[in-house]
Amino acid sequence: MSSSPEPELPWLAPQLRALQQARAQARLPHALLIQDAPGCGGERLARLAAQVALCREPDYPCGRCRDCERVAAGQHPDLWLVAPEEEATQIKVDQVRALSETLALSGHGSSTSVAIIHPADLLNANAANALLKTLEEPRPGVLIVLVTAVTARLPATVLSRCQRLQVRPPPRAECIAWLARTRGAADWSAVLDVLGDAPLLALASEPAEVLALRAETDAQLEGALAGSIDPAAAAERWLDADSYELRLRCAENWVTRRLEAGLRGGGELPELHTAAHLPARDSFMNIGSLVRLMDALYELRRLATTTINKALAVEQLFWQLRARRKA
Ligand SMILES: [Zn+2]
Repeated sequence: MSSSPEPELPWLAPQLRALQQARAQARLPHALLIQDAPGCGGERLARLAAQVALCREPDYPCGRCRDCERVAAGQHPDLWLVAPEEEATQIKVDQVRALSETLALSGHGSSTSVAIIHPADLLNANAANALLKTLEEPRPGVLIVLVTAVTARLPATVLSRCQRLQVRPPPRAECIAWLARTRGAADWSAVLDVLGDAPLLALASEPAEVLALRAETDAQLEGALAGSIDPAAAAERWLDADSYELRLRCAENWVTRRLEAGLRGGGELPELHTAAHLPARDSFMNIGSLVRLMDALYELRRLATTTINKALAVEQLFWQLRARRKA
């Protein structure tokens, strides 16, 4: 069991109602695809779907019975959770074969079995193929839930066998109200600017830390553009693995803000109004430079999972930025 109860996610209520109605009409699908939005609780919706299927109370999912509690804890005997194994970046065919065999035979206590595959986009090609066989001939009472934020990475043959449920980010105002209710007062609007409309990501963050990192990253990027910082020293700050991802988001946010301003203003962006000692008039970035900068940031994101020297890559980015002042 988790130590503290998980907060309710009100934006999932319509999807939950759809699942309850489906069970009431004995129309729960064999395969459900949850199209997640990052940080919006697709995995939680999958657990709710499992509770809807496995809860034996009339008000399913009651959230209080042994079945519901065990699903919430990920320890129900008729629930299988499939994710990449430790250190692996893919869900492998052996895992899916084992799951298929288990599902064909299982059904403790009830005849219902649920499998949650998350993130389903990490199924490799062979694994997806193996899964297809189970989706084609499911044992009655089996519910397979696939959760992914990138549906396009799943083969069409798998997608066509799944009923879909979409998770959308709640509107910004609702998101802020929910965060304030759940976590207390903070500048949630600014936090969401950095993290995107991802309420669970914001909930797990430290708002003060997010905002401090944003201020620091903004200053670094503007300083690089103005030629007023030492790229190597600035990049050193990115060595801290715990904040790397957050710094990347801050940098992406910086570029996005400038792109938005540029698209509103007609293509050429006056920069660095705040830095009076700099030659502001000839330091601008056009849309093309910003798009290339965004590409460079995506590359840094890709590097995040590798052991490559990230500080060096970041330093290079700062140098590029500096070179683009007058580009
Ligand atoms: Zn229950």
